[in-house]
Amino acid sequence: MAELKVVRGDIARLQVEAIVNAANSSLLGGGGVDGAIHRAAGTELVEACRKLHGCKTGDAKATPGFRLPARWIFHAVGPVWNGGEREEPEKLASCYRRCLELAREKGVKTMAFPAVSTGIYGYPKEPAAEIAVRVCRDLADECGVERVEFCCFDEATAAVYERVLGPGS
Ligand code: ADP
Repeated sequence: MAELKVVRGDIARLQVEAIVNAANSSLLGGGGVDGAIHRAAGTELVEACRKLHGCKTGDAKATPGFRLPARWIFHAVGPVWNGGEREEPEKLASCYRRCLELAREKGVKTMAFPAVSTGIYGYPKEPAAEIAVRVCRDLADECGVERVEFCCFDEATAAVYERVLGPGS
């Protein structure tokens, strides 16, 4: 069984094979975790992203990690929260699934996710964490992923993930 754990801090600094970026559909950079990853990876990242010609909501695309410790960045585009009746849960689940599929494609065994969509995009933290944990529990093993880190920037998000993961996380 893959290990699922909560870690605190800046995802750009994590020692895992792939980190996930909560990108926007242009893939050309933005605020929040996206800005932090672009600053840490260096300007080569935006050049690599430009060649991908954007990404649809619910999908994810890979680039190298450039100056990051991580070898890969999976740029996932989460849904903007709009009350929950516009397929936000399906689209968020699809982001996590696509990142795990990219991990399988690239042979990645350790990866970290931020809390996609829960910042500027406004997705409520608890249901978002439930989706993240469910999809990773369902698919990590079959995608060859041995460790998933849920990287939480603040204490409140970490508490939500710890609750959702249950005792021993
Ligand atoms: P979105 O637009 O998908 O909502 P945000 O970047 O605004 O993306 O926020 C997603 C989550 O990432 C939020 O919980 C935010 O607190 C967190 N976050 C912001 N910066 C970082 C970082 N450097 N490392 C990890 N998580 C971060």
